[in-house]
Amino acid sequence: MLIDGTFDAASLLVSDGIITEIRSFDLDTAEYEDAVVHDFGHKLIIPGLVDTHVHINEPGRTHWEGFHYATRAAAAGGITSLVDMPLNSSPVTTNVSALEQKLRLFKGNGWVDCGFWGGVVPQNIDDLDDLLDAGVLGLKAFTIESGIDEFPEVNAEHLTKVMRKIGKYQLPLLVHAELQDCHTEHDVLQGTPIGKSYSRFLASRPKRWENNAIKLLIALASSTNDDGIFTKLHIVHLSSSDALSLIKEGKEKGLRISAETCPHYLSLFSEAIPDGNCIFKCCPPIRDNANRDLLWGGLADGTIDFIVSDHSPSPPELKQLESGDLENAWGGISSIQFGLPLSWTEAKNRGFDLSKVIEWMSTNPAKFCGLEKRKGRLAPSFDADFVVFDDHAEYVIEEQNILYRHKLSPYIGARVMGLVEKTFLRGNLVYSDGDIIGFPKGQTLMNHRHSLNDGSV
Ligand SMILES: [Zn+2]
Repeated sequence: MLIDGTFDAASLLVSDGIITEIRSFDLDTAEYEDAVVHDFGHKLIIPGLVDTHVHINEPGRTHWEGFHYATRAAAAGGITSLVDMPLNSSPVTTNVSALEQKLRLFKGNGWVDCGFWGGVVPQNIDDLDDLLDAGVLGLKAFTIESGIDEFPEVNAEHLTKVMRKIGKYQLPLLVHAELQDCHTEHDVLQGTPIGKSYSRFLASRPKRWENNAIKLLIALASSTNDDGIFTKLHIVHLSSSDALSLIKEGKEKGLRISAETCPHYLSLFSEAIPDGNCIFKCCPPIRDNANRDLLWGGLADGTIDFIVSDHSPSPPELKQLESGDLENAWGGISSIQFGLPLSWTEAKNRGFDLSKVIEWMSTNPAKFCGLEKRKGRLAPSFDADFVVFDDHAEYVIEEQNILYRHKLSPYIGARVMGLVEKTFLRGNLVYSDGDIIGFPKGQTLMNHRHSLNDGSV
């Protein structure tokens, strides 16, 4: 069992969904007459994962994913808490009524716990207090076209306003950081069509777009910092390794800046991506192998704080699987169920311990979204969210085992190590050996200062 970063044999005592005590592994169960006892032998018990970057797309684009499918797949992947992105649902989560719709639809449909990010668009900058007061865990903005018309990007002036506002709430501002310096992706290639060419698609979303956006964000955060407002700035799905030095410098200067990356940037690389296969398309793009090595270095030295899925599914027809048209295909990778084995397989090969992977996929993201007193660790008073994990099991990812709605994945056929055998949510078994168990018991995770229901953090 993973306790405070170390694996040790132990017994976990759970009452009403909360861990009450951690005792020696040989405790006399006769002491607890009415208790249900599970003995997992030599299997590893790890805290449930916390995935703070998931596009569930309900309401409005429920045919892309939805609470039911996304949270089943999450449970199968060892994730017990996730946070839903404010797009690509319709309406987007940019006001309280849209958030309330999500809360209603989640109820009775969530197999794991779920929080919500609120969205920032130019039109709602002056009304963000309402959304923040309604219980979102933070806000998300784009510095580039999001792909969803009703979720336009914001500029430096907007961002400064938002930083000043959210800084007072001590909640994070998450930013999709790419700054386009031409009118279209097409212009970067000076008129050459992307077509089916992965290298041309890659060239159309250059690293400098990420680097320039991150530079701008750091400059804006520094200037609000100088005014005594310490905004928590978070860079989502970092792909450009060039930006690591910027983030590192920002941290060293005392800015509250954090960054995440995703299993696809850590396990895939452009040299191995075939042309005309849009299943690999995401933005920012998966870059070369040397870039991937540097991202691992960024995790190792703490510049990158954690790993999340950025699960962003769409119906197969939008992925242009038949035409192979990379320019027009939906950008998004579906992988919520496989983040742990993918990350563990790579991490192990690179000499990292499983405890480090759990820090990246559970403890650190829990802290980031304000759940550090309830999630991300096995300790007394924490929720009894845990996973029975076989760290040595090797297997091939197969389409038939996918539990999210559209069974698309760049990892079908990939050989991985590490199998989620069982997942417990607040002491309840929700996933066991390929099957979802019982009924949906997921609760909403709302910001503790204000909340719309009793599921407050
Ligand atoms: Zn995303």
